[in-house]
Amino acid sequence: MRLSRFFLPVLRETPAEAQIVSHRLMLRAGMIKQNAAGIYSWLPLGFKVLRKIENIVHEEQARAGHIAMLMPTVQSADLWRESGRYDAYGDELLRIRDRHDRDMLYGPTNEEMITDIFRSHVGSYKDLPLTLYHIQWKFRDEMRPRFGVMRGREFFMKDGYNFDLSKEDALHAYNRHLVTYLRTYERMGLQAIPMRADSGPIGGDDTHEFLVLAETGESEVFYDSAVTDLTFGDREIDYDSVAQCAGVLEEFTSKYARTDETHDQTVFEQQVPQERRRTARGIEVGQIFYFGTKYSDAMGATVQGPDGKPTPVHMGSHGIGVSRLVGAIIEASHDDKGIIWPEGVTPFHCGIVNLKQGDAEADAACESLYAGLTALGLDPLYDDRDERAGGKFATMDLIGLPWRITVGPRGLKNGVVELTSRRTGESEEVPPEEAVKKIA
Ligand code: ATP
Ligand code: MG
Ligand code: MG
Ligand code: MG
Repeated sequence: MRLSRFFLPVLRETPAEAQIVSHRLMLRAGMIKQNAAGIYSWLPLGFKVLRKIENIVHEEQARAGHIAMLMPTVQSADLWRESGRYDAYGDELLRIRDRHDRDMLYGPTNEEMITDIFRSHVGSYKDLPLTLYHIQWKFRDEMRPRFGVMRGREFFMKDGYNFDLSKEDALHAYNRHLVTYLRTYERMGLQAIPMRADSGPIGGDDTHEFLVLAETGESEVFYDSAVTDLTFGDREIDYDSVAQCAGVLEEFTSKYARTDETHDQTVFEQQVPQERRRTARGIEVGQIFYFGTKYSDAMGATVQGPDGKPTPVHMGSHGIGVSRLVGAIIEASHDDKGIIWPEGVTPFHCGIVNLKQGDAEADAACESLYAGLTALGLDPLYDDRDERAGGKFATMDLIGLPWRITVGPRGLKNGVVELTSRRTGESEEVPPEEAVKKIA
């Protein structure tokens, strides 16, 4: 992409309404525009990051054999009356009436709808196990929408639902989701720690939240500092292996890590040596639940079991805050100049800064770099505007691409360009071909 043809409405001033750094940087970098309280347009740069995150989620769900689909945002209230949540959900539920006076709602989550789809089409235990998911916009009429996309009213969420014949099978699905989530967040350059949590209005037995540690997080968390040493890495996992998935759950959840909802100071002090006790803030970027037959009982979602008798299915639901993650990643990765994108989610792989636009040699070198990077399947952003170097550097630092190639007549005389890492700030002078190689 050439910057002269892109839409990047960078702000010079720091927006006064933004209280936390990710919100400020998203506004300044021209990633989002607020349209109403907690409702945002995703401008091109923000949209690119959102898509990258969404793709990682899809890839990791596919790896585990979970099946993608798409349900609508607007739902009929009738289904929610069946589960009892039409009234129970409270003011966060945006209730809508259509022209025929029918009660509708903008979905805050999809347990009812997926259970309805399931009961309409699945009749036998032979069709299990089944995990369906979608990534779709949600609406919750939050009391205090704030922090930009971190607590929006409209937000983008992955929500998945497993259907199993027995509790053991459903717990395997739970563990399997935990594994997929660990990999998902790490690919985004994040450490998200699974913590025991309260199940809230979804209701049920087992639940873990995934938290990214950050001073601006809304949750208070208590943990054994040893949990921050755990990394999932590039392990080969057989997602059908009950023992392997349970092993990962054990490894990542046996040490003390809880949110304030389930925190127990006595247990904390018994289990964790004083020098490893930590109290901090965290951002909830996902949650997994096992809730048994809560919805299948209420809505009559049964299958014929091996004994021929109708059996209610065991279910769980699993959510990732896709749009919140954009903010969470920035909270975890920035400096005073701007965003520092992890490679896995960066909107462009690198920036090319032409120090002397209009200079035949510099222009040609930039074009050749641009073509070379593009030919390798990379997505460079070429700042081809006729602007001063200082302004170009400031924009690149603000939008946080992992690499910057700076091209100017002086370097070209010696056959070199400057390659700068956004994270370390280190620069080296290398021939253009070598810069391309290093980035690829
Ligand atoms: P919170 O405690 O932050 O209100 P939640 O527990 O109500 O979140 P879940 O029902 O667990 O949310 O939804 C799954 C994920 O969706 C959350 O882990 C979070 O990352 C994301 N999410 C929830 N509410 C919002 C929101 N208002 N704006 C952006 N993302 C959200
Ligand atoms: Mg909530
Ligand atoms: Mg929560
Ligand atoms: Mg939650």
